[in-house]
Amino acid sequence: MTVLVWNYLHEYEAERKDILAAVETVFASGKLVLGPSVSAFEAEFAAHHGVAHGVGVDNGTNAIKLALQALGVGPGDEVITVSNTAAPTVVAIDAVGATPVFVDVRAEDYLMDTTAVAAAITPRTKALLPVHLYGQCVEMEPLLALAREHGLVVLEDCAQAHGARHRGRIAGSMGEAAAFSFYPTKVLGAYGDGGAVITGDDTTAANLRRARYYGMEKTYYVVETPGHNSRLDEVQAEILRRKLGRLDEYVAGRRAVAARYAEGLADTDLVLPAVADGNEHVYYVYVVRHPRRDDIIEALKAHDIALNISYPWPVHTMSGFAHLGYAAGSLPVTEKLAGEIFSLPMYPSLPVDVQDRVIEALRSVLASL
Ligand SMILES: *Cc1c(COP(=O)(O)O)cnc(C)c1O
Repeated sequence: MTVLVWNYLHEYEAERKDILAAVETVFASGKLVLGPSVSAFEAEFAAHHGVAHGVGVDNGTNAIKLALQALGVGPGDEVITVSNTAAPTVVAIDAVGATPVFVDVRAEDYLMDTTAVAAAITPRTKALLPVHLYGQCVEMEPLLALAREHGLVVLEDCAQAHGARHRGRIAGSMGEAAAFSFYPTKVLGAYGDGGAVITGDDTTAANLRRARYYGMEKTYYVVETPGHNSRLDEVQAEILRRKLGRLDEYVAGRRAVAARYAEGLADTDLVLPAVADGNEHVYYVYVVRHPRRDDIIEALKAHDIALNISYPWPVHTMSGFAHLGYAAGSLPVTEKLAGEIFSLPMYPSLPVDVQDRVIEALRSVLASL
């Protein structure tokens, strides 16, 4: 069987009873939309982060979009972020009519180069949008200081960093708000789409609750500011509640896979993931780097191992964002990394013998280059 970068079927086998019990709980509850499971998950997810409010939404992209709107970001505003992220980070900025402004990343750990942010701030800058990429946090202290100094809001993109910590603080608890995705591959994944925003601010939370529900405060009520329908599904919320209780186990499982790779590949010329100072990494993806990346991926196909690249195209080089005017070479580190990075299979239920197969195959491919 082909080894894939991600596969949920082992997890489903192990958790099947609980997942199906979640479905039964909701179907038998008499309340299929915005019912007790969504409310409970919102409260539990917020409490897990030590933050006052959680608002469940339909996916991570809309979590970012609605959070930006709730924080007052709109047409004409600039939002500073990175280009080596999943396209939805930038799509969401575009969706509120704001302009994404990209800074480069650090070659060692692929995270936002916070020393480049000050120079990117203009009178139009409204928000900083750090992406806790691949499972570890951006250096938040300099960003929070700049935000205070310039009156900006900070929205954390936590879609890849459930449970990650930075100097003891959990990802999502450091900015004005944080957006999460529960897309199935994520560290906390649903059995379908899902997302959430957490925030400590009462007004932001109230804005979000209305925005995901047509703009209404409650059922059969008036719309003051028109919103959309971006509700988190009740079944997904019940599944997520149960899986939230296992998040620490999932993270421990990912760290064990990462440790096995690190040991098995230490003496090769692959560049392995570096954990930044003060960070606790959750390994959403295990990204390695090599100048002959394309040859390695091709050769591994003969071993029945199919690898991915997260992400092959920096967002500023995509045709859909050509109007932003970033020429080739404008984000040199981001662009160089995109040509060299690739991801090894990573999920907590990845069998040990498969991990070893990946290590052996990679070693033999690297030796034959
Ligand atoms: C997955 C992801 C998103 C989007 O989440 P969806 O639930 O797929 O909409 C946004 N940002 C990052 C960094 C992601 O990895």
